[in-house]
Amino acid sequence: MHYSIQSLRCSSCGAPIEINQVKCEFCGSRLHITSFRSIPFFTDDMLREQISNNTKNSKDILDLFSRALCLLKLHVFKQAEDIYRSIITQNIENDECFFLLSVALLEGRKPFLHKKNEVDEMTRCIENAILLKPSGIYYLFYSYLIQDYYEKKGMRYKEKSDYYKTKSLELGVSEGDRKILQQFIDWEEW
Ligand SMILES: [Zn+2]
Repeated sequence: MHYSIQSLRCSSCGAPIEINQVKCEFCGSRLHITSFRSIPFFTDDMLREQISNNTKNSKDILDLFSRALCLLKLHVFKQAEDIYRSIITQNIENDECFFLLSVALLEGRKPFLHKKNEVDEMTRCIENAILLKPSGIYYLFYSYLIQDYYEKKGMRYKEKSDYYKTKSLELGVSEGDRKILQQFIDWEEW
Protein backbone atom coordinates (compact mmCIF):
# COMPACT_ATOMS: atom_id res chain seq x y z
CA MET A 1 0.00 0.00 0.00
CA HIS A 2 1.25 3.45 -0.86
CA TYR A 3 -0.81 5.45 1.59
CA SER A 4 0.60 7.69 4.22
CA ILE A 5 -1.21 8.71 7.36
CA GLN A 6 -0.33 12.27 6.35
CA SER A 7 -3.06 12.12 3.76
CA LEU A 8 -5.72 11.90 6.48
CA ARG A 9 -6.47 15.37 7.77
CA CYS A 10 -9.43 17.11 9.37
CA SER A 11 -11.38 18.83 6.60
CA SER A 12 -12.23 21.74 8.95
CA CYS A 13 -8.97 22.60 10.69
CA GLY A 14 -6.37 20.52 8.84
CA ALA A 15 -5.19 18.69 11.94
CA PRO A 16 -3.78 15.22 11.31
CA ILE A 17 -6.20 12.42 12.11
CA GLU A 18 -5.44 8.98 13.48
CA ILE A 19 -7.00 6.05 11.72
CA ASN A 20 -9.30 5.12 14.60
CA GLN A 21 -10.91 8.54 15.09
CA VAL A 22 -14.42 9.55 14.08
CA LYS A 23 -14.07 13.11 15.41
CA CYS A 24 -11.24 15.62 15.19
CA GLU A 25 -9.48 15.91 18.57
CA PHE A 26 -8.62 19.55 17.91
CA CYS A 27 -11.83 21.18 16.68
CA GLY A 28 -14.42 18.46 17.35
CA SER A 29 -15.57 18.33 13.71
CA ARG A 30 -16.98 15.13 12.35
CA LEU A 31 -14.42 13.28 10.36
CA HIS A 32 -15.06 13.17 6.63
CA ILE A 33 -13.77 10.66 4.18
CA THR A 34 -13.03 12.93 1.27
CA SER A 35 -11.49 10.48 -1.17
CA PHE A 36 -11.87 6.81 -2.06
CA ARG A 37 -8.12 6.63 -1.47
CA SER A 38 -8.71 6.99 2.28
CA ILE A 39 -11.02 3.97 2.43
CA PRO A 40 -8.28 1.45 3.36
CA PHE A 41 -7.76 3.35 6.63
CA PHE A 42 -11.23 2.42 7.84
CA THR A 43 -12.59 -0.87 9.10
CA ASP A 44 -16.19 -1.79 8.22
CA ASP A 45 -17.20 -1.04 11.83
CA MET A 46 -15.78 2.47 11.52
CA LEU A 47 -17.64 2.96 8.25
CA ARG A 48 -20.91 1.87 9.91
CA GLU A 49 -20.26 4.31 12.72
CA GLN A 50 -19.71 7.08 10.17
CA ILE A 51 -23.05 6.27 8.59
CA SER A 52 -25.00 6.13 11.86
CA ASN A 53 -23.31 9.30 13.06
CA ASN A 54 -26.62 11.23 12.64
CA THR A 55 -25.62 12.74 9.32
CA LYS A 56 -28.53 11.06 7.56
CA ASN A 57 -30.37 14.27 6.69
CA SER A 58 -27.34 16.49 6.33
CA LYS A 59 -27.08 18.43 3.10
CA ASP A 60 -23.44 19.29 3.75
CA ILE A 61 -21.47 18.20 0.72
CA LEU A 62 -18.65 16.67 2.77
CA ASP A 63 -21.16 14.71 4.87
CA LEU A 64 -22.85 13.46 1.70
CA PHE A 65 -19.62 12.51 -0.01
CA SER A 66 -18.33 10.74 3.07
CA ARG A 67 -21.59 8.88 3.59
CA ALA A 68 -21.76 7.71 -0.02
CA LEU A 69 -18.21 6.36 0.14
CA CYS A 70 -18.98 4.37 3.29
CA LEU A 71 -22.14 2.95 1.70
CA LEU A 72 -20.24 2.04 -1.45
CA LYS A 73 -17.52 0.26 0.51
CA LEU A 74 -20.20 -1.65 2.46
CA HIS A 75 -21.86 -2.55 -0.88
CA VAL A 76 -25.06 -0.61 -0.18
CA PHE A 77 -24.97 0.42 -3.81
CA LYS A 78 -28.42 1.90 -4.41
CA GLN A 79 -28.16 4.36 -1.51
CA ALA A 80 -24.65 5.38 -2.56
CA GLU A 81 -25.92 5.90 -6.11
CA ASP A 82 -28.76 8.17 -4.91
CA ILE A 83 -26.35 10.34 -2.95
CA TYR A 84 -23.91 10.70 -5.85
CA ARG A 85 -26.79 11.70 -8.11
CA SER A 86 -27.93 14.34 -5.65
CA ILE A 87 -24.38 15.73 -5.32
CA ILE A 88 -24.02 15.92 -9.09
CA THR A 89 -27.37 17.71 -9.54
CA GLN A 90 -26.04 20.43 -7.23
CA ASN A 91 -23.59 21.28 -10.00
CA ILE A 92 -20.65 19.97 -8.06
CA GLU A 93 -17.99 19.24 -10.66
CA ASN A 94 -16.12 16.55 -8.82
CA ASP A 95 -14.36 13.88 -10.88
CA GLU A 96 -14.53 11.31 -8.07
CA CYS A 97 -18.29 11.73 -7.83
CA PHE A 98 -18.75 10.73 -11.46
CA PHE A 99 -16.27 7.87 -11.14
CA LEU A 100 -17.89 6.52 -7.97
CA LEU A 101 -21.41 6.91 -9.39
CA SER A 102 -20.28 4.76 -12.29
CA VAL A 103 -18.90 2.19 -9.83
CA ALA A 104 -22.11 2.30 -7.74
CA LEU A 105 -24.23 1.68 -10.85
CA LEU A 106 -22.42 -1.63 -11.38
CA GLU A 107 -23.88 -2.80 -8.05
CA GLY A 108 -20.99 -5.24 -7.62
CA ARG A 109 -22.07 -7.21 -10.68
CA LYS A 110 -20.26 -7.80 -13.94
CA PRO A 111 -20.95 -5.24 -16.68
CA PHE A 112 -22.25 -7.92 -19.09
CA LEU A 113 -25.07 -8.74 -16.65
CA HIS A 114 -26.48 -5.22 -17.07
CA LYS A 115 -28.80 -3.75 -19.69
CA LYS A 116 -27.26 -1.61 -22.41
CA ASN A 117 -28.86 1.61 -21.17
CA GLU A 118 -27.36 0.97 -17.72
CA VAL A 119 -23.88 0.44 -19.16
CA ASP A 120 -24.37 3.57 -21.29
CA GLU A 121 -24.94 5.58 -18.14
CA MET A 122 -21.78 4.10 -16.56
CA THR A 123 -19.68 5.03 -19.58
CA ARG A 124 -21.16 8.56 -19.64
CA CYS A 125 -20.23 8.98 -15.96
CA ILE A 126 -16.68 7.74 -16.43
CA GLU A 127 -16.25 10.02 -19.44
CA ASN A 128 -17.33 12.97 -17.30
CA ALA A 129 -14.82 11.98 -14.62
CA ILE A 130 -12.05 11.79 -17.22
CA LEU A 131 -13.03 15.17 -18.69
CA LEU A 132 -12.78 16.74 -15.26
CA LYS A 133 -9.53 15.01 -14.36
CA PRO A 134 -7.86 12.28 -16.43
CA SER A 135 -6.65 9.53 -14.15
CA GLY A 136 -5.20 6.06 -14.68
CA ILE A 137 -7.77 4.36 -12.48
CA TYR A 138 -10.68 5.98 -14.36
CA TYR A 139 -9.32 4.75 -17.69
CA LEU A 140 -8.77 1.28 -16.23
CA PHE A 141 -12.39 1.12 -15.09
CA TYR A 142 -13.53 2.42 -18.49
CA SER A 143 -11.50 -0.29 -20.21
CA TYR A 144 -13.11 -2.91 -17.96
CA LEU A 145 -16.64 -1.72 -18.86
CA ILE A 146 -15.93 -1.90 -22.58
CA GLN A 147 -14.19 -5.24 -22.38
CA ASP A 148 -16.73 -6.96 -20.15
CA TYR A 149 -19.83 -5.59 -21.88
CA TYR A 150 -19.22 -4.61 -25.50
CA GLU A 151 -16.44 -7.04 -26.34
CA LYS A 152 -17.94 -9.98 -24.48
CA LYS A 153 -21.15 -9.46 -26.47
CA GLY A 154 -19.28 -8.90 -29.74
CA MET A 155 -20.58 -5.32 -29.98
CA ARG A 156 -18.72 -2.29 -31.24
CA TYR A 157 -17.90 0.72 -29.12
CA LYS A 158 -16.19 4.01 -30.04
CA GLU A 159 -12.81 2.55 -29.11
CA LYS A 160 -11.55 -0.88 -28.12
CA SER A 161 -10.90 -1.64 -24.44
CA ASP A 162 -7.16 -1.77 -25.22
CA TYR A 163 -7.26 1.91 -26.15
CA TYR A 164 -8.48 2.86 -22.66
CA LYS A 165 -6.15 0.37 -21.03
CA THR A 166 -3.16 1.94 -22.81
CA LYS A 167 -4.31 5.36 -21.60
CA SER A 168 -4.47 4.03 -18.05
CA LEU A 169 -0.94 2.63 -18.32
CA GLU A 170 0.33 5.95 -19.68
CA LEU A 171 -1.13 7.83 -16.72
CA GLY A 172 -0.20 5.08 -14.28
CA VAL A 173 -2.38 3.19 -11.81
CA SER A 174 -1.06 2.66 -8.31
CA GLU A 175 -1.32 -0.74 -6.66
CA GLY A 176 -3.40 0.95 -3.95
CA ASP A 177 -5.96 2.30 -6.44
CA ARG A 178 -6.20 -1.11 -8.07
CA LYS A 179 -6.84 -2.82 -4.71
CA ILE A 180 -9.57 -0.33 -3.77
CA LEU A 181 -11.35 -0.82 -7.08
CA GLN A 182 -11.32 -4.56 -6.47
CA GLN A 183 -13.09 -4.00 -3.15
CA PHE A 184 -15.91 -2.11 -4.86
CA ILE A 185 -16.53 -4.41 -7.80
CA ASP A 186 -16.51 -8.07 -8.76
CA TRP A 187 -13.39 -7.84 -10.83
CA GLU A 188 -10.60 -10.21 -11.70
CA GLU A 189 -7.37 -8.93 -13.13
CA TRP A 190 -7.10 -9.26 -16.85
ZN1 LIG B 1 -10.36 19.65 13.14
